Amino acid sequence: MTALLKIDNVSQTFVRNDKSSVEALRSIDLSINEGEFVSIVGASGSGKSTLLRIIDGLLAPSSGSVFVDGTKVDRPGPDRAMVFQQDSLLPWKTVIENVGYGLTLAGRPKAEVQAIAQRFIDMTGLRGFESHYPHQLSGGMRQRVNVARALAVDPKILLLDEPFAALDAQTREIMQTELLSIWQKSRKTVLLITHQIDEAVFLSDRVIVFSARPGCVKTEVAIDLPRPRDLDLKRHPAFIEQVDHIWKLIEAEVRAGVKQGA
Ligand code: ADP
Ligand code: MG
Repeated sequence: MTALLKIDNVSQTFVRNDKSSVEALRSIDLSINEGEFVSIVGASGSGKSTLLRIIDGLLAPSSGSVFVDGTKVDRPGPDRAMVFQQDSLLPWKTVIENVGYGLTLAGRPKAEVQAIAQRFIDMTGLRGFESHYPHQLSGGMRQRVNVARALAVDPKILLLDEPFAALDAQTREIMQTELLSIWQKSRKTVLLITHQIDEAVFLSDRVIVFSARPGCVKTEVAIDLPRPRDLDLKRHPAFIEQVDHIWKLIEAEVRAGVKQGA
């Protein structure tokens, strides 16, 4: 099987204004197949967001390359869509206008934009809120709008950078199950960054564990828990064992990261 996303020997060093430099990523090699759900976990400051920005084309790596479906990434494009921790909705636009925004920008006809936006509003459980404005929604609902907007442009790969980090624990668990059902319906390839190990295990086919800065792939763990998954799975011994195993792998890295003041 050929990889949909291929990260080939990517390194990133930032040079600061005072000329000091930070090595954020070192020699990352990673392949993700079509339809796979992969998560990256790692200590704070281990370069996870930097890698996602490189994949999205927002940042050119110091060395190495990223390929999506065989094409080298050199800028953002419609084959990738990113969702951040802080929602980035346009406050003066309604839910349906926000969801359709990327399509409107691409010059698609209004009726088509409406129909596509409605489809993803339904898929993300936002029906009935089409004409609401972002300030009228809860944090969880705003993140649903972000996910719907990302899906509406029909990307090949969905890039999620700690999308639920700002939500309370209960909302977060509900969003996890919804993300799973959206993933199953949309059959998208997903790359998720999270610092919550149980979230990564619950959602993923594979969990990539990053070392502390400079980030590199320390190890990867295949999650062969059965699907479809629901929240009951989190109480199963096999699940708890996986989480524990990964936690032990990154514990030393987290400690190293704390020492570096990350
Ligand atoms: P993570 O998402 O894993 O917490 P980041 O990718 O945000 O880590 O950051 C990795 C390291 O690179 C950190 O030490 C951070 O301070 C540094 N860094 C990130 N972006 C920049 C930048 N634009 N300029 C300088 N340093 C940066
Ligand atoms: Mg980050």
